[in-house]
Amino acid sequence: MLIGCPKEIKAQEFRVGMIPAAAGEAIAHGHDVIVETNAGIGAGFTDDDYRAAGAEVVATAEEVFERADMIVKVKEPQAEERARLRKGQILFTYLHLAPDPDQTHDLLKSGVTAIAYETVTDAFGRLPLLAPMSEVAGKLAPQVGSWTLQKANGGRGVLMGGVPGVGPAKVVVIGGGVVGTQAARVAAGMGADVTVLDMSLPRLRDLDDMFRGEFNTSYSSQARLAELVADADMVIGAVLIPGAAAPKLVTRAHLATMKQGAVLVDVAIDQGGCFETSHATTHQDPIYEVDGIMHYCVANMPGAVARTSTIALGNATLPYLLRLADMGWRDACASDDGLAAGLNTHEGKLTNYAVGKALEIDV
Ligand code: NAD
Repeated sequence: MLIGCPKEIKAQEFRVGMIPAAAGEAIAHGHDVIVETNAGIGAGFTDDDYRAAGAEVVATAEEVFERADMIVKVKEPQAEERARLRKGQILFTYLHLAPDPDQTHDLLKSGVTAIAYETVTDAFGRLPLLAPMSEVAGKLAPQVGSWTLQKANGGRGVLMGGVPGVGPAKVVVIGGGVVGTQAARVAAGMGADVTVLDMSLPRLRDLDDMFRGEFNTSYSSQARLAELVADADMVIGAVLIPGAAAPKLVTRAHLATMKQGAVLVDVAIDQGGCFETSHATTHQDPIYEVDGIMHYCVANMPGAVARTSTIALGNATLPYLLRLADMGWRDACASDDGLAAGLNTHEGKLTNYAVGKALEIDV
């Protein structure tokens, strides 16, 4: 199979769908790989890195889309990319079709067989191609939060780990899933006094077993949340209710109870945010203040560390990519229900129930 990897064209996207190591693996499996020139440059991979792995570097995206049997990307195809897709071609990338009728209609019109990273599941029902980006965002959250806590950035001027004789920052993490666990680990590693809130007792049990002593766990009742938020230097929002907008757990009224210069990091902003006063920000202008409380609400946090994110995503997608290429999409999906769950469109038909329900299209 000829696998093609174009350069991402969405604004501020520096990741790339295939790292040179993945290209090398696919070639070792007997496939060919074409990569658009400079596709990997934002993540620190040069054309020569791809050539050294055995890939062919071509000058334009048009050539990649025209020749490849399977297109591997990061972000959903933009309008000009969608116009180049065709029946018989596989598209393997993040799609997020449910809130995006224009993209859905274009993919159906093209006839492409589109497999979405975000709906691929593993044997435990988890989302293996979303998890790496949640891990990245979780580890970044205390890092950006601690920068925001600095006085010059509008924060309280509190050091995460304190110093001998001066106590550490108090960090509250709401949601103890993939993002929350990584955020708590990093904040605790920086020396902060960390509490993780979750509504799932089994999850709190697991966290307690795995990280005994590293951070505190607490059931996420409204009263407990209000108490912890009022005393916090930093609150990290990391909740997810699958298929729904994030619940507004910290309201504007809570802000009045908080210490001036405390920091809110809303990682759940890509699902609408879990703080009432959150609105999405960018890496260029990441923070703003409401009622004396600093907010960090960047919707694509992994983009800040494009190299790490690209390699993490590439590691997670590679086994699926190889199976799609080796077996063809039909046999690969037939042999793995989790990969089949990734199939969103095929030859003009929508094949994902949740997307169909959201967009009122027959599946
Ligand atoms: P996850 O499903 O692994 O974890 C979510 C956790 O939230 C679960 O443990 C759940 O029990 C808990 N939860 C739900 N309601 C709660 C409540 N009321 N109080 C306390 N806990 C509650 O999800 P995840 O992968 O950790 O993702 C968390 C959020 O981060 C999602 O909204 C995801 O879209 C977002 N995210 C954002 C970025 C970004 O760049 N901003 C990147 C990756 C993920």
